[in-house]
Amino acid sequence: MAAERAQAIGANTFQIFSSSPRMWRPAHIEPAHCERMRELREKYGCSPLVIHTNYLVNLCSQSEEVRSKSITAFHGEVERALALGAEYLVLHPGSWRGLTREQGLLLAAESVERALDGLDWHTSHFKILIENTAGAEFSLGGNFEQVAELMHRLRDIAPVGSCLDTCHTHVAGYDIVTPDGYEQTVRQIEETIGLKHVHVWHMNDARAARGSNLDRHQHIGEGTIGSDAFRRLLHDERFVHCAFIAETPVDEPGDDERNVARLRSLAAVAFPVK
Ligand SMILES: [Zn+2]
Repeated sequence: MAAERAQAIGANTFQIFSSSPRMWRPAHIEPAHCERMRELREKYGCSPLVIHTNYLVNLCSQSEEVRSKSITAFHGEVERALALGAEYLVLHPGSWRGLTREQGLLLAAESVERALDGLDWHTSHFKILIENTAGAEFSLGGNFEQVAELMHRLRDIAPVGSCLDTCHTHVAGYDIVTPDGYEQTVRQIEETIGLKHVHVWHMNDARAARGSNLDRHQHIGEGTIGSDAFRRLLHDERFVHCAFIAETPVDEPGDDERNVARLRSLAAVAFPVK
């Protein structure tokens, strides 16, 4: 249904969960459904397909039990992503509470490597995208340096890139609202992650203030980031290779469609002719 729904709301890329986002029990996806996904995406020209990892996964947990469950779950995430033909699997780097940040980084990299064991990702156009976070205490990835550091450690053992979230970037303290601040922020991305390694932008306005570390998504143009910042990002040629995906709230039916339409109007790109 995901490909049909994306098409129906005027989207030409989409993000899904391939399993219940808050349960450990893995989903089994029938080969016929994977095939149907490929057919529909081809028919609608819907690309890339992005999968978001289950929220319970914490690959740098101090608890060995949680870490072990997370590795098993992430193995399943990659397996399903490959079966579905997804281009990207978005991963939050995790929380290192109870450890040092350095230990957290090491554990996260080691866990990804273990999770990939036995999976043949080499032949597909597939990447694990490390997402920047809102910068809450103990969360890995609250700044671009930390995302880059994890990517660097994974570079030789996993296909890796990055997904940046506008809301997380803003509440973590980066300025993407003023023209000068935006330029400076892009320069920081360039010097750490590298612009070509950013494959997806999560387009979310924010309910909370810049620097608040509060991860509360808002409808495009109705939050503390505002329409101008989204327009600027959508017109920035340095990110022309990226997919832009809304993770905005659904307060009322039709909100998804309205946010996609808003992004399209800011990008000044007409709806595709059906
Ligand atoms: Zn996000």
